[in-house]
Amino acid sequence: MAITEDAAAIAGELAHLRRAIHAEPEIGLHLPLTQEKIVAALDGLPLEITLGSALSSVTAVLRGAVNGDGAGGTGRRAGGGGPVVLLRADMDALPVSERTGLDFASRIDGTMHACGHDLHSAMLVGAARLLSERQADLPGSVVFMFQPGEEGHGGARFMIEEGVLDAAGERAAAAYALHVASGELRAGVFSTRGGPMMAAAEALGITVHGRGGHGSQPHHAADPIPVACEIVTALQVLVTRAFDIFDPVVITVGSFHAGTTDNVIPDEARLQVTIRSFSAASREQVRETVVRLVHDIASAHGLTATAKFKDSYPVTVNDQREARFAAEVVTDLLGEDRFQPQPNPMAGAEDFSYVLEQVPGAFVMLGACPPPVDPATAPFNHSAFAVFDDTVLADGAALFTELALRRLASSAR
Ligand SMILES: [Zn+2]
Ligand SMILES: [Zn+2]
Repeated sequence: MAITEDAAAIAGELAHLRRAIHAEPEIGLHLPLTQEKIVAALDGLPLEITLGSALSSVTAVLRGAVNGDGAGGTGRRAGGGGPVVLLRADMDALPVSERTGLDFASRIDGTMHACGHDLHSAMLVGAARLLSERQADLPGSVVFMFQPGEEGHGGARFMIEEGVLDAAGERAAAAYALHVASGELRAGVFSTRGGPMMAAAEALGITVHGRGGHGSQPHHAADPIPVACEIVTALQVLVTRAFDIFDPVVITVGSFHAGTTDNVIPDEARLQVTIRSFSAASREQVRETVVRLVHDIASAHGLTATAKFKDSYPVTVNDQREARFAAEVVTDLLGEDRFQPQPNPMAGAEDFSYVLEQVPGAFVMLGACPPPVDPATAPFNHSAFAVFDDTVLADGAALFTELALRRLASSAR
């Protein structure tokens, strides 16, 4: 039977699983309830399952039964398994209080699957089932990467440290991830692009260290406030003077705190800054120049400053060939009207970027705006009102499946 039909046949079960995960969302690297549901849903499938140590991840390996062309082959075959494809779903929720009013809405206060990772988990379980049914024809192995802690916790990095990219015995030849969107795209429409797909994001904390004193006698103090103001302005000048307009960066000082009252010069001023960039080169440049600028401006006034990067994700860069391949698979499997090229990268960030730094692959968006809501005005991911339509689950699972099958067939040849 066709993959899309097989996927449609399990759509109800996938929706059931998705709703169970949705109702009990968990945040961060430790998601015991979510992990339990995923392991239970994979039960009975011919998979080798490993649970994470540093985080509650689930890594499942499906080994194909076909050995390819043996001695005449490329010599890359590991344990008779052939090439390896990795499919990834993130599993974590956000600190948002759900206001959708859905009957399967979050039962945990202040926690919501507002980014649709519940759908990703269910779609990947669906792919594990569909690919398991095809194990006898599988010319290689598939690694299913169920990952906690995407939302700012760098879960992908921990899973890479624990060996997910080599879980099948050799390095994955390609990696794919799907991400649903509650707006912007019509339900069931897939979108991707070659090259930068998502931004790099850095959170930078700056402290300007001065010396407090009486507001009437600034010459006896070292006032951090005007110095911090100068830093804010200089950061905006830096954006326009030091960077190629066709490889842009965004710097926003979102928080500025200093002092307590009008006539007291404070000891320090604190700034919190977010920085977005779209290439490894401009990311490296912005990280260096921002820190230099902060130190030099402070020292020009006889003060000191510290600038510390907190969380950061690199640019998510799709391989050109893999992105084209993913687009082709969408149109062959589901029809031309189901693919829409993405003209520009998105300014959000993703830790699948760490996987794509080591394995060529593609990060693909999937519209999940429930009709008849207009995608242009629908509450987007991370909103307390974001609603994701279950009906995309079957096609998501089918796409994961077809990507793995075709990619394995092409590299086994
Ligand atoms: Zn998110
Ligand atoms: Zn997300």
